[in-house]
Formats: sequence, structure tokens, C-alpha cells
Amino acid sequence: MGNHFSNCIFCKIVAGWHPARMVYEDDLVVAFWDAKPVAPVHILIVPREHIPTLNDIPVENVILSHIGQAAAIIAGELGVAQAGYRFFINVNQGGGQVVFHLHAHLVSRSNPGTDNAPDV
Ligand code: 5GP
Ligand code: ZN
Repeated sequence: MGNHFSNCIFCKIVAGWHPARMVYEDDLVVAFWDAKPVAPVHILIVPREHIPTLNDIPVENVILSHIGQAAAIIAGELGVAQAGYRFFINVNQGGGQVVFHLHAHLVSRSNPGTDNAPDV
């Protein structure tokens, strides 16, 4: 389960102490819908372990590649892999990070299940 930080909202979601609309879980990460989606698909992929930012990933820790692999699986399951999506991580205040528990955003302008080309 990783370390739980009692004041961290994503640790609470990982622990099941705070509700979230889960889409994917495995040994290392959980993924759920963003509470304030900016597009028809907006998923957050979150390591179970509390790592504050991208800058804090320990050397030789494979979590980032695992998050990327999870994103591709989730995009496939939601039916937006072919149409396309953005995959990004905000880092620290200047990078727009608001929640200081590492997470990647998976954002697609395509509707779930359609895999249509996005309107540009
Ligand atoms: P950041 O700017 O840190 O990269 O993104 C944090 C994201 O977490 C925001 O898009 C925000 O809407 C989302 N968020 C913050 N608190 C919660 C929550 O309690 N539940 C869910 N599902 N999303 C949250
Ligand atoms: Zn945390």
C-alpha cells in the first residue's frame, strides 16, 4: 500500500478513505477520474506510494514507466487510444502542480468508447 500521509488527499484515495471513481488499479498505481475534468476523458494515474513530485522519484525506481504503461492500458479500455490523448505531469508550483502526491494526467477530447478523431 505504500506510506500513507494523513494530510494527503491522494493517499486517502489510495487507502480507500476518500471516494474516487476508479478506472484502474494494480500493485503500484491506482487511476481515477479527475474531480474537475477539463475534457470528456480526464484520468489521474497515481502511485500507491507517496512520492511528492517528479523530482523525488528515487534512482532506479520504475514507477514512471509503470505509470506510462498504465496510461496506455487505460486509454485502450476507455476507447481513446486510437483517437489520441495528452499525458502529462505538472511539477511544483511553477508547473501548475496543486496536489503534492505524484500523478500523471490522461486527457482526451474524444468521448469515452468512441475512439473518434478529436475535433481540433
Ligand atoms: P495538479 O495540478 O496537481 O497536476 O492536478 C491535481 C488534479 O487533482 C486537479 O486536476 C484536480 O481537479 C484533481 N483533484 C484534486 N482533488 C481531488 C479529489 O479529491 N478527487 C479527484 N478525483 N480529483 C482531485
Ligand atoms: Zn500522498
